[in-house]
Amino acid sequence: MNRFEYLLNKLQEESGELTTAAAKVNAFGREGQDPSTGIYYDNVERLIKEANDVIGILQMLADEGFLPDGFIRWNEVYDKANKVNRYIRYHGMNNV
Ligand SMILES: [Mg+2]
Repeated sequence: MNRFEYLLNKLQEESGELTTAAAKVNAFGREGQDPSTGIYYDNVERLIKEANDVIGILQMLADEGFLPDGFIRWNEVYDKANKVNRYIRYHGMNNV
């Protein structure tokens, strides 16, 4: 496995962790307390941490020339947000 392959593997791993973090917010709420241990958890903070882990690996891929500089295309980010908002309105979902 070379460095590029390793970084792609890390991207898969971190993307999976981000998926899990999103599922936990959906299933258990933004924050709470573990009923068995009493330990407080903040699922939104976990989601942010995992999102930044994904961005960190993407930045490493850019720093090493595997992705172009400026790989985050804000116009595409906002286009995606607008598209998702259209679906949300279409399906009549309430705001958070
Ligand atoms: Mg992680």
